[in-house]
Amino acid sequence: MLDIPAIRSDFPILSRKVYDKDLIYFDNAATTQKPRCVVEKIEADYYNVNANIHRGVHFLSQAATEAHEEARRTVQRFINAGDPKEIVFTRGTTESINLVASTFADACMQPGDEVILSQMEHHSNIVPWQIQAARKGIAVKVVPVTDNGELDMEAFRSLFSGRTRLVSLTHVSNVLGTINPVKEIIAEAHRRQVPVLIDGAQAVPHLRVDVRDLDADFYVFSGHKIYGPTGIGVLYGKEEWLDKLPPYQGGGEMIASVSFEKTTFGELPFKFEAGTPDYIGSTALARALQYVSGLGMDAIAAYEDELLRYATARLQEIEGVRIFGTSPHKGAVLSFLVRDIHPYDMGMLLDRFGVAVRTGHHCAQPLMQRLGVEGTVRASFSFYNTKEEIDVFIDAVKRVAAMF
Ligand code: PMP
Repeated sequence: MLDIPAIRSDFPILSRKVYDKDLIYFDNAATTQKPRCVVEKIEADYYNVNANIHRGVHFLSQAATEAHEEARRTVQRFINAGDPKEIVFTRGTTESINLVASTFADACMQPGDEVILSQMEHHSNIVPWQIQAARKGIAVKVVPVTDNGELDMEAFRSLFSGRTRLVSLTHVSNVLGTINPVKEIIAEAHRRQVPVLIDGAQAVPHLRVDVRDLDADFYVFSGHKIYGPTGIGVLYGKEEWLDKLPPYQGGGEMIASVSFEKTTFGELPFKFEAGTPDYIGSTALARALQYVSGLGMDAIAAYEDELLRYATARLQEIEGVRIFGTSPHKGAVLSFLVRDIHPYDMGMLLDRFGVAVRTGHHCAQPLMQRLGVEGTVRASFSFYNTKEEIDVFIDAVKRVAAMF
């Protein structure tokens, strides 16, 4: 059981007002709010241990290096990776996917080779592959989405060919909330000797993720969606794969030795961390992971599921409501439209009631085309939200609906 009032008091922003109304923050799939311990960690590190890391001989540099590497171990334990060298710090999910797309295409793909994506991907798991498709002449195959918002697994199996080199799919859809059967997907791909990248941006904050149990080859997520700071994220890759891939960017930190005749690259994970790393971000992310671990990922998942079920049932009271994504396996994301009310109108008016939701295509335009809509309204929940907030939200949706 989570102590929700105590949790809410850890998040100062939740007690602020917008337009004289209590803030109801239902935009957690876009970014989550930060607990005091994370913000204080950033302040404390800048005040006490700020120094550029790696190779510094002085006290502060060694302290900062140790903090950054301890943060890597915290991430490793959080997703149950086998070794800290399999954890690469990036700027976020987008950079992690671009890193894999670019280096994997260079090292492991020939013109005519294929990558399998799905119709429910975020643009950040589509566009990097299209860039590589244009550069390298590789083909993108797309798993269709069923009417209730699940991956069409039959079609998925039929997309494999002798040229399939990688599968890259989202764990949880940021629009439909669908939790994809990624363990089964990875096993299917591995049976055909094809590695799998999982976009965990919407999964890691809400579910217990164990990359070794999933047997994922690559798994990526963003710090800011799991109560950590912006600008830091993670690429997990199996050592055997990261070893095969060339560096993504060149510069300081990622080399073993440099001369104009010959440069050699550093060991994992430093080969992929060119330039001064975000060592303040990594330690603050580790603090956020400790915070959610303290609450318990299973308790978080159970409570958020209760919020989702409650909100779904209450939303269905409203005449003319259409919910997008009705899989029985869902994270706490609720996309909907009411009659033909434009999502922007709904979002702007809900905002006046203090309710922050996201509207539009949610960086998933191919999915919008599949659903036959321009956009949706999306409410996405966190463990700090409450049923009382959902009641205010439902009331506000009803009032907006009555205006049209
Ligand atoms: N994938 C999914 C499923 C997402 O929801 C998001 C963020 N909306 C991203 C990728 C991109 O994450 P970021 O912008 O933090 O790189």
